[in-house]
Amino acid sequence: MIVAILALQGAYQEHAQVLERLQVPFIELRQKKDLNQHFDALILPGGESTVQGKLLKELDMFDILKQKIEEGLPVLATCAGLILLAEELSNDENQYFQTLPVKVKRNAYGRQLGSFVRETDMKLIGKIQARFIRGPYIESVKPNVHILATIDDHIVAVQYQNQLAMAFHPELSHDDRIHQYFIQIVKGFIS
Ligand code: GLN
Repeated sequence: MIVAILALQGAYQEHAQVLERLQVPFIELRQKKDLNQHFDALILPGGESTVQGKLLKELDMFDILKQKIEEGLPVLATCAGLILLAEELSNDENQYFQTLPVKVKRNAYGRQLGSFVRETDMKLIGKIQARFIRGPYIESVKPNVHILATIDDHIVAVQYQNQLAMAFHPELSHDDRIHQYFIQIVKGFIS
């Protein structure tokens, strides 16, 4: 199994460190020719979604990745990654992959509450420390989207088919259970 990490901008190195700890082989996607390599799964890291979206399009990587996700490539998306997957953004005119049928609000906690950690019970995982950095939350989901975690009545983690997405940063918590769960999903897809 090989996992590809989108490495254009943001917190991609932290995902690489988790995969190293889990001894999962990975590659980094920095330019279009990197997409010619074989990979079984994709990680979309946190960062700045507008910058990542712009670079994906400028580097001519956007359409290829969108098609792969639509065809069932397993994706783990954190924070800005969730924004890239969202079908709809409630406070931003940009749209990106739109493969995840949820409505997302960017920078939803405002500036003052920009960064915080909250404990929550995540379905299938257990208690986690969710670390938010100018994070979004999910305002609404369409049918068949499974809600995995909420904080103060806001949805912060979901799974839909091949897509596992969250508003916080599991790669910064030194708790690898979410990545381990994702690897199990990937194994299910490729077996
Ligand atoms: N605020 C960022 C955005 O809108 C997301 C923040 C993050 O990924 N930590 O893209």
